[in-house]
Amino acid sequence: MQLLDGKLLSENIKSELAAEVDQMVAKGAKRPHLAAVLVGENAASQVYVQSKIRSCEQVGFKSTLIRQEADITEAELLKIVDQLNQDPDVDGFIVQLPLPKHIDEERITLAIDHRKDVDGFHPINFGRMAQGLPAFLPATPYGILEILRRYNIETAGKHCVVVGRSNIVGTPMSILLSRKGYPGDCTVTLTHSRTKDLPGEVRRADIIVAAIGIPQFIKGDWVKDGAVVIDVGINRIEDASRKSGTRLVGDVDFEAVAPKCSHITPVPGGVGLMTVAALMMNTLKACKKEIYQ
Ligand code: NAD
Repeated sequence: MQLLDGKLLSENIKSELAAEVDQMVAKGAKRPHLAAVLVGENAASQVYVQSKIRSCEQVGFKSTLIRQEADITEAELLKIVDQLNQDPDVDGFIVQLPLPKHIDEERITLAIDHRKDVDGFHPINFGRMAQGLPAFLPATPYGILEILRRYNIETAGKHCVVVGRSNIVGTPMSILLSRKGYPGDCTVTLTHSRTKDLPGEVRRADIIVAAIGIPQFIKGDWVKDGAVVIDVGINRIEDASRKSGTRLVGDVDFEAVAPKCSHITPVPGGVGLMTVAALMMNTLKACKKEIYQ
């Protein structure tokens, strides 16, 4: 079994990006600029946004963090989105999800200019991705493609089972892995909460992508020998042996699954760090106008 080391890969990607930014700036170009909007005090969101800002510093991007109280109105948030859309210095921006219940996340996502949508959540980017056109790919699936690519994992003709059909992970992952080319050309089964005999479906997989949000959900006897396992889940569970009283686990029962598979991503240290690296790659593409003029 080989660990798919998201920490190492994300550090490599950030070094490559930093070298490219240095070259760009030396030639007189502006630094890529990512803005992040953080609403409220959600602890996990604060950690994610801080990690994105820290990564910007590591690669030499300019970053702007816009913090707002949880009671901001939808109209006020839409105004901030509009200002970021109009600001010529901002190449890309994200509005960290989840948002407070009184704000319609879909309306906010739709208001973001798709040319600055470096999270890849806007329906224009989603549609273009589905048709194989240049698009900002959603950051988590993009990070997973990079893991497969950088570890030279064969995908053509493989049977991939994606568990979970969210708009930001499961559904785009299923589309990307079934697209023509590498990494892709898989035969994909997209499973979800209404799937009959989920263990049976997962057992047929050469590649498993687990994005459910239930700790240690995928069990050892659901996984065929030699499968490649990508664990997207980030769940905090109680652990009395830790000083903090908690620890992070994925959606896969790592202890039981790891001995059976050929490759597996750890949690933490796997997909999460690659999501941030993918966001940085998208921001550089936005600055270089690689996707849209
Ligand atoms: P979501 O809640 O939007 O979707 C979960 C999906 O799981 C749904 O499609 C649902 O049908 C499916 N599901 C729920 N219960 C099921 C069951 N019993 N059997 C089969 N399918 C079931 O979640 P999401 O946003 O896709 O996130 C999934 C997990 O990935 C969470 O733990 C989240 O924290 C994590 N996540 C990690 C990253 C990262 O960067 N590593 C990014 C996004 C999400």
